[in-house]
Amino acid sequence: MIVKPKVRGFICTTAHPEGCSAIVKEQIDYVKNQKKTDGPKRVLVIGASMGYGLASRIVSAYSFGASTIGVIFDKEASGAKTGTSGYYNTVAFEKYAHVDGLYAKTINGDAYSREIKQQTIDLVKQDLGKIDMLVYSLAAPRRTLEDGTVYKSVLKTVGAPYKNKTIDLKTLTVQDVTVEPADEEEVEATVKVMGGEDWQDWIDALKAADAIEDNAVTVAYSYIGPDITHAIYADGSIGKAKDHLYNTAKSITAADDGIRAYISVNKALVTQSSAAIPIVPLYISILYKVMKENGVHEGCIEQMYRLFNEKMSGNEVQTDAECRIRLDDLEMQDNIQDKVKELWQNIETDNIKDCADLDGFFDDFYRLFGFRAEGVDYDADCDVNVRIDSLQ
Ligand code: NAD
Repeated sequence: MIVKPKVRGFICTTAHPEGCSAIVKEQIDYVKNQKKTDGPKRVLVIGASMGYGLASRIVSAYSFGASTIGVIFDKEASGAKTGTSGYYNTVAFEKYAHVDGLYAKTINGDAYSREIKQQTIDLVKQDLGKIDMLVYSLAAPRRTLEDGTVYKSVLKTVGAPYKNKTIDLKTLTVQDVTVEPADEEEVEATVKVMGGEDWQDWIDALKAADAIEDNAVTVAYSYIGPDITHAIYADGSIGKAKDHLYNTAKSITAADDGIRAYISVNKALVTQSSAAIPIVPLYISILYKVMKENGVHEGCIEQMYRLFNEKMSGNEVQTDAECRIRLDDLEMQDNIQDKVKELWQNIETDNIKDCADLDGFFDDFYRLFGFRAEGVDYDADCDVNVRIDSLQ
């Protein structure tokens, strides 16, 4: 099939297998070119097919030589439809890992379900014995409980409506948007989906099955960002879920059985999840421009390399006073945020290209789906029916 991008709103409904493979390889090569350090050797990554989870898996494998099990929720190709980019990323990751002599297996299914937890734990017990690190990197729009109840997360404010600028990704115009407040039920649902309950369930299930080391470490990801985004993120419905995630980290650690849980506050980046948040894509485009001009821009792989090799290296995990790892340290530097604020105040449709790195935003967006990778011939036929090694 010749695969071209088909973009609808903030998602692309096609993915390019060879492009995904090339982009995974770029990330692997980045880590291979860094200093190797010692770290966890049996790593389980929940949400391992895209964004921060995929990068966490790559860094664990290629920095520490870790065996990795990834839990993903992706689709292989069927009929005229390509597979999802997360599926192709995982095909590629396993292929490279196996060539490099690394253990890598994948479970494809709903991480929230008891069945997938059980399958994963069976695999851990059979192949690894116990894990020594759990990375919890789910970003999901909904969660279905065992009794069939479905919770849907929303990206809304809490309390009052919030009006600010946003970008229309189709027309590339700067427009005002008013984000309406979530009602109580919507906030509760967002906390159910993106809060820490399921993270705790994973820890409990792993502990009950004796499939996690007593001194294991676990990390989940959050975001804080500047004032501009607070109403929609940190103080919004998703922020309430992140507060719950933070409190879950505290209670996992407080259980006092040796497992240490951390929240890493990461940088804003273009991923499938962040592209869907109002206001945030415009902020990210401006942030990219400023961070690139200051030589401090990082993508998922650079962030995750720094997390595992600097912030969490050895026994001394570097945190702020509230015990959060601040991987957003460069994003939040005063000189970066002052410049972002100035550009945010001035940006309008006519000067959008001068004030924001739209090319960088769209490059990252297309690359999420395997497009715009170097060295890939997008006019050539490619095999969309490739399969994940460990699932054949
Ligand atoms: P992403 O969309 O790139 O990846 C999410 C992953 O979760 C994918 O691998 C997807 O397949 C998997 N997933 C979704 N539902 C699933 C399910 N039911 N079962 C199994 N797997 C499932 O997201 P991301 O941006 O990398 O986000 C990961 C975490 O990082 C989230 O907690 C997010 O809030 C946080 N974070 C993101 C940013 C950012 O700017 N993107 C910044 C800071 C923190």
